[in-house]
Amino acid sequence: MAPKATVIAIVNQKGGTGKTTTCENLGVGLAMEGKKVLLVDADPQASLTISMGWPRPDELDTTLSTLMDKVLEDKPIQLGEGILHHTEGVDLIPSSIELAGMEVGLVNVMSREKVLKQVLESSKRSYDFILLDCTPSLGMLTINSLAAADSALIPVQAQYLPAKGLEQLLQTISKVRRQINPRLRIEGILMTMTDSRTNFGKEIDNLIRQVYGSKIKVFVHGIPRSVRAAETSAEGKSIFVHDPKGKVADAYRALTKEVVHSAEKRRKYQLDQLR
Ligand code: ADP
Ligand code: MG
Repeated sequence: MAPKATVIAIVNQKGGTGKTTTCENLGVGLAMEGKKVLLVDADPQASLTISMGWPRPDELDTTLSTLMDKVLEDKPIQLGEGILHHTEGVDLIPSSIELAGMEVGLVNVMSREKVLKQVLESSKRSYDFILLDCTPSLGMLTINSLAAADSALIPVQAQYLPAKGLEQLLQTISKVRRQINPRLRIEGILMTMTDSRTNFGKEIDNLIRQVYGSKIKVFVHGIPRSVRAAETSAEGKSIFVHDPKGKVADAYRALTKEVVHSAEKRRKYQLDQLR
């Protein structure tokens, strides 16, 4: 039987920390390493869908909210249903503003934390990695992403002291681990929009590594700030096409390698346990 996909939630309740950019570029990076990748836009703002080249998400027939509705209504989801194919070799379950209704609609349903997990169940054997682009809140949609995930990857913007927000996020992750999803690990903290020219940025980077580095993995390489990265969201292309030789592409290549490496280590460990 084919092994199941590693599901990574890209999460931070703060907006603008580089979640969507990381989801797209890590996803394409993994595809370039020969992995089968499904990206899931779990944000009603649909930034991932738009930046992957579907500028009018409201006109799509099937989005994540359609699939979640099906689970709620106990209807089967066909293999590949609603999945879009991007030219750079990754697949996408798109989102639209309709997903905003889910946040409220999930309050009174049974197993409301596991609806997204059920949506992904049929896809798990078709992919090596499934990346979830989370919405900037700690509401029901994000809880659904954490409940469906094997790990959480946390982009933190190097310009702002994330102190309180990061604590709250780590507490939420612990709570989900205790109550809903004991397998949930932290993939790592990813410093984004780093700027080696400013002392302030360097101080925050150091501080995060000092405070959290002993408990949580902080990726060795952050993602540098560059206008080339910001441009890609309007183009429907990853940084690997838009600026393949630039420092942001290099940084996402390095991140991809770290993520592949840790997935392989874990798989090997799991196989050893089975022997
Ligand atoms: P989030 O999904 O966490 O809200 P985004 O990935 O949408 O964050 O990024 C927020 C904004 O910052 C976007 O306009 C994006 O294009 C820009 N951005 C992301 N990464 C970088 C980077 N490395 N350098 C410069 N701008 C970036
Ligand atoms: Mg986003």
